[in-house]
Amino acid sequence: MHSKVVIIGSGPAGHTAALYLSRATLEPVMYEGFLANGIAAGGQLTTTTDVENYPGFPNGIEGTQMMDLFRQQSARFGTNIITETVAKVDFSSRPFKYWCEYKENQEPDTADSIIIATGAAAKRLHLLGEDIYWQKGISACAVCDGAAPIFRQKPLVVIGGGDSAAEEALFLSRYASHVYVVVRRDVLRASKVMANRLLSHEKVTVIWNHVPIEAKGDGSLLNCVRIKHTKTGEVRDLEANGLFYAIGHEPATKLVKGQLLLDQDGYIITKPDTTYTSVEGVFAAGDVKDKKYRQAITSAGSGCMAALDCERWLAETLGE
Ligand code: FAD
Ligand code: NAP
Repeated sequence: MHSKVVIIGSGPAGHTAALYLSRATLEPVMYEGFLANGIAAGGQLTTTTDVENYPGFPNGIEGTQMMDLFRQQSARFGTNIITETVAKVDFSSRPFKYWCEYKENQEPDTADSIIIATGAAAKRLHLLGEDIYWQKGISACAVCDGAAPIFRQKPLVVIGGGDSAAEEALFLSRYASHVYVVVRRDVLRASKVMANRLLSHEKVTVIWNHVPIEAKGDGSLLNCVRIKHTKTGEVRDLEANGLFYAIGHEPATKLVKGQLLLDQDGYIITKPDTTYTSVEGVFAAGDVKDKKYRQAITSAGSGCMAALDCERWLAETLGE
């Protein structure tokens, strides 16, 4: 199959790109993935409950329901959505070649342009008890979940010592009775300015040289985090109604490694204020190129930019 434009990935970025491209009658083909990187088609929002900060939904909306609506809107204007994971790409010449999972030894499909919107995944620790209390006290996104009633005026724990941990702890301090930041070493990785803010905050206590080992609760909600001293091995329980991982994200760029320029953390580098990657005709949108904002609305925004960049590039290059 040959297409004018292929979108790889099916979160807010991919679907927004699909919506714009299909309305522009470019007949986009979207590969939405089949449990790509362990996440259902629809992306990270399919792993959460209520989304309350996406404009247009004043009462909030379930993440899976929201992504169903995104999908319906992409399909309505004619996006061809294929439930397969793209496993291999070759951007060395145009048309670009790509292969889906289990078809790597077959003839490739081709495309004039490609939008990479494969997203990212917050790293998790897979603690004992995490399966029971995931989204019932445990989260990997304080900005998304921190304002929920279960965390209000309660002690909360953040894991990590980087800028994300600092930012999330400071954000959570607005709602929490107290925030404990559990750091595995005796230094923070966070920038000086963030570290100073964190260390001087009256509602924040940093617990050095500790790692979490178990999430405990009453069976329906988390109420305790068991932590262990990394040097002495001593174990103690922290009363906590929230446990937030802030130990970094992993962009889904294995597919394009060696083909597109990536930064030191593995994110796709785009030309400033555009979605152009290091290969002409390949565009990137969403969390796969954004380690700073990582929100549904910013991903959707960059999906729109990628579609407009792609549409103009196709018109200028191929007269489409
Ligand atoms: P993703 O949502 O990461 O989607 C990309 C998807 O593409 C993948 O998940 C997969 O299904 C597919 N894919 C990947 N690789 C391939 C491949 N090779 N072939 C085919 N398909 C592939 N943001 C908010 O604004 N509000 C919130 O309330 C909120 N809550 C969150 C809660 C949780 C638990 C998490 C983890 C994140 C939350 N976020 C929230 C952040 C938000 O989900 C992300 O910023 C957003 O989903 C990123 O969108 P994306 O389109 O870049 O990619
Ligand atoms: P990060 O800088 O990689 O920090 C991750 C933190 O988690 C580190 O303290 C690390 O400990 C810890 N960690 C990792 N794995 C762990 C594990 N298994 N158990 C316990 N702790 C673990 O990630 P980030 O904070 O998400 O930041 C990513 C990038 O985005 C950085 O460049 C950052 O500057 C940037 N960012 C900037 C801002 C801002 O400027 N406002 C906000 C957020 C992010 P070690 O230090 O021991 O490795």
